[in-house]
Amino acid sequence: MRETGRFAPSPTGPLHAGSLVAALASWLDVRARGPQARWLVRIEDADTERCLPGMGEHILQQLAECALLPDEPPVWQTRRTDRYEAALERLKARGLAYPCGCSRKDINEALARLGQRHERHGERVYPGTCRDGLHGKPARAWRFATEKFEADLPPTPGVPWEEKEEDGHDAGTGGELCFTDRRLGRQCQNVSREVGDFVLRRADGPWAYQLAVVVDDAEQGVTDVVRGEDLTDNTARQILLQRALGFATPSYLHTPLVRGADGDKLSKQNGATSIDTGSPSAALAALDAAARVLGLGPTTASDCPAALAGWVPEWRALYNSRP
Ligand code: GLU
Repeated sequence: MRETGRFAPSPTGPLHAGSLVAALASWLDVRARGPQARWLVRIEDADTERCLPGMGEHILQQLAECALLPDEPPVWQTRRTDRYEAALERLKARGLAYPCGCSRKDINEALARLGQRHERHGERVYPGTCRDGLHGKPARAWRFATEKFEADLPPTPGVPWEEKEEDGHDAGTGGELCFTDRRLGRQCQNVSREVGDFVLRRADGPWAYQLAVVVDDAEQGVTDVVRGEDLTDNTARQILLQRALGFATPSYLHTPLVRGADGDKLSKQNGATSIDTGSPSAALAALDAAARVLGLGPTTASDCPAALAGWVPEWRALYNSRP
């Protein structure tokens, strides 16, 4: 398969210092693989509520100002919803997707009854309340039957699946799903215990990132996912969905995060969200700062295309291997 990488921004705001790192890294990773490899850009506007009008176009313009030009016309998720629908239907047909009528409050109450307070990134682990039906409530979301799928998941070469009994905690469920990140090394997660049956689509419309990203990466033939480290935690869920849908698993590399002045992950609260790409010298400075985050040396080039070309061999030496 032709080597393919992609940058997949959500148009919830302009390109910022952190997303430029992911864009640059995914571009370099493709270019370092040679002229046959493709770099794609996908505007991830499937979660329509969080997206801002015109922001996708603005991001594409910012990328172009940095000379980060996709090899094919950008893809927009909102124009691909028939694909997500088809994938959800396939999961439903196999009993791997079911409707859930629980509100956040219902989930909290169910967890309290079970005496569980386990929380990840502010999200409660779904306790499986609607696995056996909606209990008379209207459907609010479709969920992936993680536990059911894991229970009879066959081991797949290349992506180790480990049966691990830990304090009786995950009795009856599968073990951990592990993958090797090209920068972070081995990463493992027990999805049913740490995440639970996760949302694929909200009943009122929006597609969940997990389903859309898996369908798109597969249909676009993405072989190498390079993206920010804040997304590492989603990867095990995405590998499960790839397996459930019969898709290949790409290689993964999660890039370092840009820290705000306070050392925290960059956010609107700690400033420095925006970058200036409005003039060639500003765009070059923004790219140069992103390259530093990736451990690449300062550029002596006078424009973006020359700077990018200069980092390609450096990137190849630092990162261009597959696990
Ligand atoms: N759209 C996601 C974001 O902007 C990135 C998705 C991905 O690279 O997998 O955070």
